[in-house]
Order: sequence, then structure tokens, then C-alpha cells
Amino acid sequence: MKVTLMHHTPLDVCAHAIRTCWQSFDKSDGGGEKDRALIDRVGNKYKHSSTLEHLVYTFYIQGISRALLQELARHRMASLSVKSTRYTLKELKNTDPFDLDDFKGASKFIVLTGNEDVDRASIAALNNLQALLKKGISNDIAKYALVECYKTELTWTINARSLQNFLTLRSSKSALWEIRELAKAVYEVLPDEHKYLFKDCMANLSE
Ligand SMILES: Cc1cc2nc3c(=O)[nH]c(=O)nc-3n(C[C@H](O)[C@H](O)[C@H](O)COP(=O)(O)OP(=O)(O)OC[C@H]3O[C@@H](n4cnc5c(N)ncnc54)[C@H](O)[C@@H]3O)c2cc1C
Repeated sequence: MKVTLMHHTPLDVCAHAIRTCWQSFDKSDGGGEKDRALIDRVGNKYKHSSTLEHLVYTFYIQGISRALLQELARHRMASLSVKSTRYTLKELKNTDPFDLDDFKGASKFIVLTGNEDVDRASIAALNNLQALLKKGISNDIAKYALVECYKTELTWTINARSLQNFLTLRSSKSALWEIRELAKAVYEVLPDEHKYLFKDCMANLSE
């Protein structure tokens, strides 16, 4: 998978929002140490968490399975624009069937697990779908034969409060391995000066 951070709100916007409550704008250091401490104190320690909603991040997430997409979409406090199989399945139609051992070739279209029995079964299912498309069956009907490992991509926008919730739940060892990988990748591409707001959410990652 590949995660790219496309856009983020500067910290001083969140500090400004917090300072609006106390009209303490003159104490701002423009997103420096004082503002960073204020955001952590008010947003995290005092649980005035709605202030964290002023920080918004947009990610471009590529090469995840539709199995992971289903879990990601459960996070309602986020916005998703997802690659449509209705409009894009010709990418598979225009290729040749894959040899069941051609993991590298098939990985252009599916997320592999590393379990060769499972991955061969996924390649067979991919070939079945491809055969249906080559027969001229429309994407809208053929897509019902899609495997969960079929790769997709999305643009994902989420605020800091919801991202904390996502990272806490999905970096946990009880989460699905692929969404744990996503949580780690999302955390890694956050701007360095923002990471302190999310560091504690990642505490379970190494377990
Ligand atoms: C380990 C694990 C296993 C899971 N297994 C399953 C499973 O087997 N089946 C399944 O269906 N789901 C499962 N889920 C998904 C889970 O139930 C949540 O849908 C998902 O984690 C999103 O969490 P969320 O609701 O906190 O996030 P969001 O939807 O982003 O909501 C963010 C926060 O907003 C508040 N909120 C949002 N909507 C409401 C509401 N209607 N009422 C009150 N407060 C609200 C809550 O405080 C919530 O935490 C699993 C999740 C995890 C982490």
C-alpha cells in the first residue's frame, strides 16, 4: 500500500480556534511551542476534544484491499472518495489470465497475504472475474464476482479527533493486519510537528 498526505491544516489554525474561547490571541506564538502545548492541554488533557476537529488531513491511499476498505468505511467521521469498480474494471479485462503462481503479476490487482494457498485461490477468482468481463458481461453485473482482496484506492479526509480514534482502534493488536499496516502508514506520513497529538494512540502497535 502507499499513503500520501495531500493536505493538512497548520497547527496555528487550531490554536486560534482554542484562543477564540478565551480571546487570548496575543499569547499565540504562531503555532510554536506555546500553541502546541495549548492544543495538547485543551484538546487532549482537558478533553475539550472538539477543538481538535479544526485540524483536518487529506490522504491519498492506494493499493489496499476492498476487505480493508469495508473496515475503513465504518469510521463515519471521515470523508471517502473511492475508485469505482463500475467504471474501472476494464483495467482487468484488458489483461491476460494469470498463472496461479504468478504472484507478482497478480499483485497489480490483488493484495496478497503471503499464504500461497490463499493467494492462489485469490488469483483463480481474479481469473474467473476476468473471464466474465471478456465474455462481455457489464461491470455492474460482473463486479458481484469480485474478490475481497481486489485492490482499490481512495482519497480520505479526516479530522484530528476522528484520526485519534481511528489510530487507537486500528493500531491495536486486535485489529486486522492490513488495517494495522494502514494505521502505521498514516501515522508515518503525518507532519512531524503534528505527531505528538497522535503518539499515544499508537502505543499498542508493537504488541
Ligand atoms: C478490533 C475491532 C473489531 C471489530 N469488529 C467488528 C465486527 O465484527 N462487526 C462490525 O460490524 N464492526 C466491527 N468493528 C467496527 C466497529 O464496530 C466500528 O464501527 C469502527 O471501529 C468505527 O469506530 P467508531 O464508531 O468509533 O468510529 P466513527 O464512526 O468514526 O465514530 C467516531 C466517534 O463518533 C461517535 N459516534 C459516531 N456515531 C455515533 C452514533 N450513532 N451514536 C453515538 N456516538 C456516535 C462515537 O464516539 C465514535 O467513537 C470492529 C472494530 C475493531 C477495532
